[in-house]
Amino acid sequence: MTNLAIPHPYHLDNWQKSLSDLITNPNELIAIAKLDPKNSRFSKLATQIFPLKVPRQFAALIRPGDWDDPILAQILPKVDENSHSTSHSHDPLKEAQFTPETGLLHKYKNRVLLITAPHCAVNCRYCFRRHYDYQTNSPSQIEWEQTFDYIHRNKDIEEVIFSGGDPLALSDRRLAWLINQVEGISHVATLRIHTRLPIVIPQRITKEILEKFKNSKLKIVLVTHCNHANELTKITEHAFAKLHKAGVLLLNQSVLLANINDKSSTLAALSKKLFSQNILPYYLHMPDAVQGTQHFAVTEHKAKEIMEELRGLLSGYLVPTLVREDPGAPSKTRV
Ligand SMILES: *Cc1c(COP(=O)(O)O)cnc(C)c1O
Ligand code: SF4
Repeated sequence: MTNLAIPHPYHLDNWQKSLSDLITNPNELIAIAKLDPKNSRFSKLATQIFPLKVPRQFAALIRPGDWDDPILAQILPKVDENSHSTSHSHDPLKEAQFTPETGLLHKYKNRVLLITAPHCAVNCRYCFRRHYDYQTNSPSQIEWEQTFDYIHRNKDIEEVIFSGGDPLALSDRRLAWLINQVEGISHVATLRIHTRLPIVIPQRITKEILEKFKNSKLKIVLVTHCNHANELTKITEHAFAKLHKAGVLLLNQSVLLANINDKSSTLAALSKKLFSQNILPYYLHMPDAVQGTQHFAVTEHKAKEIMEELRGLLSGYLVPTLVREDPGAPSKTRV
């Protein structure tokens, strides 16, 4: 328990405080992670395109003094991001074509994805939305009504996906409003929430949010984004136990990232730790060809080899499905 007299540095009892007290200064990150500034891999230029942003308690999981740490590698703006690649672009998924309403993506027949929040708690360097213009794509209240109207009219839609940004970065009040809108559409049975908050700020899983999930008539699926076993702690375990108890189906998706998790032993350890926290592996994504992320790329040949080894190490239900996203395809493509 935290001592009430001394504010806890990670605000473990107040997720909003954690979210407003992020590390954005690289020198602070370097000091906290006890990194030797002489060997710095940090790039200021990279932060101008996509800023440094990380919750303190997540940064605390970095192994002190290790520039190769798998958590540091996910959040540190590096020189590698500045090299230009002709095979990479700003919108590799051609999402603009599948946006009938502001903030709504309808690519696959029975499900739609909503950009519910304009920001995240952490800026992941490999993010395929690192160039996304949240400003123009953030629906106004009227546009939100049009979005839900679209879902009302399209009886094929059985599942609504809250994505982002990070939907759990929204206030409980805003989130409840969005959930209520979905509950009001009779042909929608499932609400899926894609979020990294339970990993990076697990105290986001409040009593209020658990009550909302528990009392919903929708089947709720929460897809966490975790790439390495080191991201899972006693505190995340507690948060996921509560979600599990509230009847939420817990899945995880990872991105296959060079020098972070591109080894079968690393991915096997991740799957086992996820399972110990009531989460089943769902997808392992090939990184999308987004400008500034080419140093994370893993070839499909290598990815297939890793998967082959992984199947020898894990029960079938702990092996994620390796997928990539092809613009225009009717679903994600199995590799
Ligand atoms: C990935 C994605 C989905 C969900 O696809 P699943 O295979 O069901 O996980 C839905 N809509 C869009 C636009 C997506 O990119
Ligand atoms: S949490 Fe997800 S959307 Fe946000 S920066 Fe990370 S990968 Fe991108």
